Amino acid sequence: MTPVPSHCPVCQQKNIELWSVAKDYEYFSVPDEFSYYQCISCRAVFIHPVPLALLKKIYPPNYYSFVNNGKSIVVRTKEWLDKRFFKKILAQLPGKDLCALDIGGGTGWMLDVLKATDSRIVFTQSVDIDTEAKNIAEAKGHAYFEGTIEEFDTNRKFDLILMLNLIEHVADPLAVLQKAETLLSTDGIIIIKTPNTESLDARLYKKTYWGGLHCPRHWDIFSQKSFRHLLLSTNLVVKKMTYTQGAPFWAFSVIASLYRKKKVHISAEKPIIFHWLFAPLSAGFALFDFIRRPFAKTSQMFILLRKGSNK
Ligand SMILES: [Zn+2]
Repeated sequence: MTPVPSHCPVCQQKNIELWSVAKDYEYFSVPDEFSYYQCISCRAVFIHPVPLALLKKIYPPNYYSFVNNGKSIVVRTKEWLDKRFFKKILAQLPGKDLCALDIGGGTGWMLDVLKATDSRIVFTQSVDIDTEAKNIAEAKGHAYFEGTIEEFDTNRKFDLILMLNLIEHVADPLAVLQKAETLLSTDGIIIIKTPNTESLDARLYKKTYWGGLHCPRHWDIFSQKSFRHLLLSTNLVVKKMTYTQGAPFWAFSVIASLYRKKKVHISAEKPIIFHWLFAPLSAGFALFDFIRRPFAKTSQMFILLRKGSNK
């Protein structure tokens, strides 16, 4: 048994309890069990200890190709919704020429969506640790930096910075936010998408397997409250916080739970994402979350940040 963490990495409080014990049911990358703890004070959930030594193993070579799994109807609908969402945000940015940065942006597929949404975007930059994505991104006209955001160095300022499902993957979310702050233009906006620990599916499935853990690849999972705590050590303020659908988390949770009851077969060779139930479950829960989103906390959050003082 590894010792219980001494304090919350987000708010530093000492009141902590075990929240979930999980395994990698999504890719079967390692056989280990991982412990997730919750801070009673700010509600942040975090893995402990952080499996830094396993980094190469928990992102298997085929991981990135799984992420953008074809142009299914679910993916197309999602892109359409994203486009609508981005259009609203881009309308709030002043200026004739805009620069956009996607941290963890891979081949730049989201930057493609942005460019198609607003012709004022003249420069697009993807920063990612994925070696394979470089050529594709550059062929599409995006600048590409292979490495982490902390290693990325430029004099350029960005009007729009995307961190979509990124912050939960990193060892030091605060350092990433602080770096993004230095890259942001005066009127710029950072868009963060990250799981929400206070969702219905998180509560229902934490005892078996909650997809939002993406175990063991998500290391810090926030709620609106804990994310605001994190911002206290930055010069970034919340412009807007909303919930958005977390259909894949539902699908991962349901299939992993069926697997534990030996009702379905999944393995390293046949990950959940390729199980025939994945697409219909994702579509069904996307609709479910879409309907209840106006009045319920769903399992992903959109957080819009701008420069400002927290003092
Ligand atoms: Zn805390």
